[in-house]
Amino acid sequence: MKTIKNESGCLIFQGKPHKSGYGQLKVFGQHHYAHRYAWTQKNGPVPADQLLLHTCGNKLCVNLEHLYLGVHTDMKGCGPRKLSDEQVRTIRLTSPHDAPTLAKLFEVSPDTIRSVRTGRTYRSVVDFPQQKD
Ligand SMILES: [Zn+2]
Repeated sequence: MKTIKNESGCLIFQGKPHKSGYGQLKVFGQHHYAHRYAWTQKNGPVPADQLLLHTCGNKLCVNLEHLYLGVHTDMKGCGPRKLSDEQVRTIRLTSPHDAPTLAKLFEVSPDTIRSVRTGRTYRSVVDFPQQKD
């Protein structure tokens, strides 16, 4: 594939870009994103649950040093969200009926709220901070 190196070290794919803005090329009658193609040639297929991302933000860049595997960061409910001590105390002070409301407010699942209330999680957070005077 034809590329031109720019001043930031990006290897800019030379060809008609896909409408998504990524470089596109045809190999054995199949269309590929240029950056994905370049990466898989060296590293093998991109895992299904991961994305091939650019450190430089340039969609036409096919420099392998500017490409890395990442996960969808905008996926909700993927990995536990951290609650602050204050939020944990608030959860423990409210009635179980408020779980859905609090879950929405703190952007966690109602299950997380329940675990916090029963003390299954965030055990290190004490009900009241020690007062110093
Ligand atoms: Zn780049």
